[in-house]
Amino acid sequence: MADCCSNSVEIKIESVADCPYCQSKGKSVKLITLKSMLEPSSLETLNAKESHYFCSNEGCDVVYFDTLKKAYLVSDLKVAVYQKDNSSNTPICYCFDWTKAKISDYVESGNADKPVEHIRQNIKENRCGCEVNNPQGSCCLGNVTAFIKGLT
Ligand SMILES: [Zn+2]
Repeated sequence: MADCCSNSVEIKIESVADCPYCQSKGKSVKLITLKSMLEPSSLETLNAKESHYFCSNEGCDVVYFDTLKKAYLVSDLKVAVYQKDNSSNTPICYCFDWTKAKISDYVESGNADKPVEHIRQNIKENRCGCEVNNPQGSCCLGNVTAFIKGLT
């Protein structure tokens, strides 16, 4: 599911590393994701030669860290990070703007299938850009599905 938005032939290296702050496992993210997400003042400190990882732990302020244990915090990003933000206006699907509030509305009005259907349709048309839109750098569909499951 994590690969549903990548239609390239490149082999994805599924590596993980421990977050230097909370010690939970962080998944590797591409450099392009950090380049797209970081505030200019943080971007200009980027170690572009290192590998980078995403910490999804809700209670941890670190969003990205690199092989040298350099960390980028929630405040270093231009957007709110779904995994670390309680606001109902934070997107779960960043590409097509499905916020927690919007998805909740659909679920409450008996249209729980609509958000995933809509996202899938756009993925099928190769319109998603998770690498540059979503802080986690990969497809949101797993998060959306889990969120809806939590509501119902
Ligand atoms: Zn962490």
